[in-house]
This record gives sequence, C-alpha cells and structure tokens, in this order.
Amino acid sequence: MGIIKTIQQKLMAGEFSCTELTRAYLDAMERDNGSLNAYVRATPEDALAAAAQVDQKLSVKEALLPLEGVPMTLKDNLCTKGIETTCCSNILKGYVPIYNATVWDILQKQGAVLLGKTNMDEFAMGSSSETSCFGGSLNPHDLSRVAGGSSGGVASAVGGNLAAYGLGSDTGGSIRQPASFCGVTGLKPTYGAVSRFGLVAYASSLDQIGPIAPSAEDCAAVYDVISQYDPMDSTSKGALGPASPHLEDGLRGVRIGVPEEYYDGVRPEVLSALENAMAVYRSLGAEIVPFSLPELKYALPVYYILACAEAASNLGRYDGIRYGYRTEHYNGVHDMVCRTRSEGFGKEVQRRILLGNYVLSSGYYDAYYKKAQGLRGAIVKGFHQAFGKCDIMLAPTVPMTAFPLNFTGADPVETYLTDICTVPVNIAGLPALSTPCGCDQDGLPIGMQLIGNTFCENTILAAAHQYEKAAGQYRRTKWGVSL
Ligand code: GLN
Repeated sequence: MGIIKTIQQKLMAGEFSCTELTRAYLDAMERDNGSLNAYVRATPEDALAAAAQVDQKLSVKEALLPLEGVPMTLKDNLCTKGIETTCCSNILKGYVPIYNATVWDILQKQGAVLLGKTNMDEFAMGSSSETSCFGGSLNPHDLSRVAGGSSGGVASAVGGNLAAYGLGSDTGGSIRQPASFCGVTGLKPTYGAVSRFGLVAYASSLDQIGPIAPSAEDCAAVYDVISQYDPMDSTSKGALGPASPHLEDGLRGVRIGVPEEYYDGVRPEVLSALENAMAVYRSLGAEIVPFSLPELKYALPVYYILACAEAASNLGRYDGIRYGYRTEHYNGVHDMVCRTRSEGFGKEVQRRILLGNYVLSSGYYDAYYKKAQGLRGAIVKGFHQAFGKCDIMLAPTVPMTAFPLNFTGADPVETYLTDICTVPVNIAGLPALSTPCGCDQDGLPIGMQLIGNTFCENTILAAAHQYEKAAGQYRRTKWGVSL
C-alpha cells in the first residue's frame, strides 16, 4: 500500500494524531536535514496549524479528503503566499509571494500539511541541485552523491523519509531524474494537465508540475487531485479522468515500445536493469516492441536551444526594480540593472541567459531558434507515429546512476548530455514517469522511464504500479520518519 493511504488509515484508526505525525516529521527534519540539505526552509507553524485542523476533523469522525493530513513538501519555485519563495537564487532571496500557486491552493484546501520548501538548482537550471544558492541536496542512499536536479530537494526529502510526497517541476527531466537518483517514483504529467500558475517560469513551453513519492500509487493519488483545469493558466486543460481507478488495469496485450535510440551509450548496469524490467513485463502479459525513433537524436540540442531562449525571456523580469535583490551601489538605472543581475544570478543561470539571447538575436535566430522549432515539430510527429506501434514506451531515465558531488566540474556540456533520455517528452508534451528498477554495484538506485501518449497518465501509472507490485525495487533509507 502507498504511503498516503497508510498514513490516512493510521490517522483514522487513531494510531497517532496528525499533530504527532507532523511533529515526528519536523523533529526528523531537524535531525537529518543537516546531512541531506533537502529543505531550505521549514514551515513548522503552518504545518502544525494545518495538522490541528485535521485532528479536529478526526475527533468528530469526519471522513478525510484524499491527501488530507499527509505531510508533504513543495519545491522552492512554487509560490506560497506569505512563505518566502526563492528558486534557490540570490536574486529572489527575501521574496514573499502575495499569492499561491494553483497547485498549492488546491492542496491547501485539501488539508495538506506543508512541512517546508525544498532545495533545487537555481531557477530549475541544472541536473544536480548544486547550482542552488543554498548548496546542493545530498542523496539519501549515499551522501557522497548528489540527489539529482533540479527538484533534488524534493527527491532527497522523499527518499530520506522527511516528507510523504512532494511537488516538483519538470522542464527537461527535473522530476524524473532526481526521482531516479534517489530511488523513488516521479511523474511528469502531460503539458497542460496541471496548472502552472504560480510556478516561477523557466521555459514556459516545457515546464510541468508533478509529484515525487515512494510509489506510483502515491503519484496517482496526488496527480488525481492536482490535475484540474485552471482559468489562470492559458495552457491548462486538466486531466481526462482520474488515474487511480485504473491502477489494476491488466497489462495483457499491452504493447511496450522500446525505441533503440534511448539505449545508446547507456551504462551496462542500467541496461541490464531495464532488460530485467522487460522480462517482468513479459511475465505480466505485455508485449515488448522494439523500434527506431530516429528524431530522438535532435532532442538534446533542440531542448537546450529552446529552454535557454525561453529562459532568457522569462528571466528578463528580474531587474532589481520590481522584486528581489537590488545592488547597493550604482550609477544610473542601466548600471543598476546590470550590477543587480550580475550579482544576483549564479553562473549557470547567466550562461543560459547569454545562450538564449544569442540564439534569439537577429543574426542567429534562423540558424538556431527557428531551426529548433522546426525540429521540435519533427520530434512531436515521430512520437505520434511511434504511438501507432505501441501503447507505452520503456526507456532509461538517465544513462547512469547518481553522480558524485562536483561532477559538473568545468564543462557544463558533460552535464547537459546526461539529460538525453529525459528531454524528449518535454519537447513533445507527453507524460512520463520514473520508477526504481534495481541498483548498480555501489547500491545506487537505477530508474526506468515509462512514457505515455498525451493525457494517458493512467496507462503509465498502471504499468509502474504493477511492476512495483511484481518486482518492487523501492528501498527505504535509514533517514527520517518510519511509520
Ligand atoms: N537538467 C535540465 C536543465 O538543466 C532540466 C531541468 C528541469 O527540468 N528543470 O535544463
């Protein structure tokens, strides 16, 4: 059974009160966050106030809403009214939003208990959470490894049992990659399924919000609550229907596509874990269908061109005038903006703004931005055709397991290359998840990626759930709360 159901059953059985549970998480955070650096801000008062309300309900035996009373966390790029939201950037330190992200509004009404805000790469740009101005989050399976990124804090908190689940954002893999590194499950929904209102924008045509949790069942429970149409986000559609009722849908005859390009250059241990997963699926009655998806070779350059272009435009708003950091000494407004941005943004963010403005500049627009947009169309079409041959796809989440600290080193392109398996679905707007499928010889978790057709979250969540039941590879770490 998933952690969300377990907690709710224990609350209803009176095994502990919501206040006791919340205090246990807050105490564990105090004890273990110094090691994991998953949280950048705890919100004990809000958490205990929410818990008290849940206890009130329990005392009169009122039924709980889905997710009610379950302690959780939010990535620090989701706006929380009255609670500082920094995107782990110096430029937003001290910024306290005056409104909630829609997802947090929904969860708050649902009686969610927010334990705190979690660490991330600065403005969600990175794959290790080390570009955070608070320093990186560490991997609960091995403190000499990163938790991944950019939602590294959420994955470290969930893998370290410092939250039952969390919400992250995924522009090019930021939910799936840290979930894979930390041995938990993470879902990036279809573009438009979850409202992005109140998510600080990185690359608006690629960003999606989604859950990270110990199991697919938990991810389905969270997804079902947050995937609502929202008039505040013009790209919002909501889900076609809930995924949870479909978790047990049989896999007999389901065609699982294996696009060979995803497997190029993948480490042998990752490859053999995926081959084992294929055998499990065969034993569950699914059919494995290998094919080629040649457009995938364009995905990485297309992603880095489009993401940087959109980031350059989105981050234009941090000018030291409207909110956030402003430099102390300056000579006129131009100098103020220039100094504010140079001092407030970290190196990686500055690099992406420069790259983005370069590909958008008049002399290079046709050669880079326009060409990337054209190739995006080809990738979308390639996936569309591939879904004529299969119902879901199976691929590695990352070609390797969690990097050692400071792997990013001097050459950022080395790190960009590791996003090769996660960026394609963001380009095509498709849903995808990562779930643990084994570990390497150092005991580090390996993740497998399941990709679905648009708005078919139910098919990939069912496939992940049934794999987890048949061959579950989730391993509890020594940290945090044990229920
Ligand atoms: N690692 C990718 C990047 O740096 C993806 C980040 C994300 O999904 N936010 O852009």
